[in-house]
Amino acid sequence: MKKVLLVVIDGLSDRGSKTPLSSAKKPNMDRLAEMGINGIMDTIAPGVRPGSDTGHLALLGYDPYEYYTGRGPIEAAGAGIDVKPGDIAFRVNFGTVEGEGSVFDKVVVDRRAGRISDTDELVKAVNEGIDLSEFGVEFVFRRGSGHRGALVFRGKNLSDKITDTDPHKVGEKVQRCRPLSDDESARRTAKIVNYFMEKAHEILDRHPLNEERAKKGLPKANVLLLRGVGRVPHIPPFESRYGMKLAVIAGTTLIKGIGRILGGDVIEVEGATGSKNTNVKGKIEAALKALETHDFVLLHFKATDELGHDGDFEGKREFIEKLDTHFEPLLKLDFSKVCLIVTADHSTPVTAKEHTGDPVPIVIVHEGVRVDDVKSFDEFSACKGGLCRIRGLDLMNIVTDLIDRAEKFGA
Ligand code: ZN
Ligand code: ZN
Repeated sequence: MKKVLLVVIDGLSDRGSKTPLSSAKKPNMDRLAEMGINGIMDTIAPGVRPGSDTGHLALLGYDPYEYYTGRGPIEAAGAGIDVKPGDIAFRVNFGTVEGEGSVFDKVVVDRRAGRISDTDELVKAVNEGIDLSEFGVEFVFRRGSGHRGALVFRGKNLSDKITDTDPHKVGEKVQRCRPLSDDESARRTAKIVNYFMEKAHEILDRHPLNEERAKKGLPKANVLLLRGVGRVPHIPPFESRYGMKLAVIAGTTLIKGIGRILGGDVIEVEGATGSKNTNVKGKIEAALKALETHDFVLLHFKATDELGHDGDFEGKREFIEKLDTHFEPLLKLDFSKVCLIVTADHSTPVTAKEHTGDPVPIVIVHEGVRVDDVKSFDEFSACKGGLCRIRGLDLMNIVTDLIDRAEKFGA
């Protein structure tokens, strides 16, 4: 059975006539371009600016317009919550509020609670101290990295048509959750969220760990700011859709969440941080090992996107060069058995410091592909390749065809 290794370098490509990728010294990536068929890809559609979540869904063959219901469910899955279709999920920040009265009278003075990192005790206190059974609702609250977390409500008549409680700005009051549609389930959910907000604030504000922080002059982590709400979608598992067992290797909870929500196995690698100091070597080794136990391995690198957001041209170029030095084992794969794809989920140009709709370069290396004349892996050379311009949703069709797993359409 042929296997697939999909390497996604987040936000890899740029705008302009000289880019971090085109000016990087990257002999191994260039060699892959030479060995494979190249092209450019609009992850979602020309000019559409993908998020990393919607971009990855498209790359894996799931139309984000059909399956994407917000970031909350994916982050919750990535944080390790066993989410179920119909659950209502939020992203959470521990924040700091000051003032008198109810939590909604108080002002947010820090949206990250001084970038608190040790939240285990606080998470435990919230899980043990709040009871939503009078509403017929269960909840799960998990920590994420740093000041982040994820929250899931489970029960009947819940709606995701509600507003955030995070004001998204310091100096503003905590927002009361409001229904966005005129139905009972949205009104009821907003009421439960507001009850939860009050209780969580009461528990956190007087928690010994926060008393201690206050004594040391550190901001209390005394509020949970909720955002990115979404209903966990009914989404067909990757394995039942393609007959291939999925493994995901990533440093960020968002991409781990994509893996989990599609029923894949998330393989943890020590030192996989999702930033430029990540353990590139370890991740590549883990991916090659995963090819022995899984049919489809998604290997994700994040730092290129971060450096794009920072507008750091040199840093981005250097990280690409660092990645490239570890790409050597990929050249030695047996391409009669493995189909290797190297691409990105979107562009994050250092000039824009945000995701843009500029297409990304893609190379596919596999025995039998129509090898083209492209000899460099970059935005400009890729345009001249044999794949021409494809969409993200085309990728799984192309790949499953190449590895003899596609079904014939018609007679
Ligand atoms: Zn991304
Ligand atoms: Zn980004």
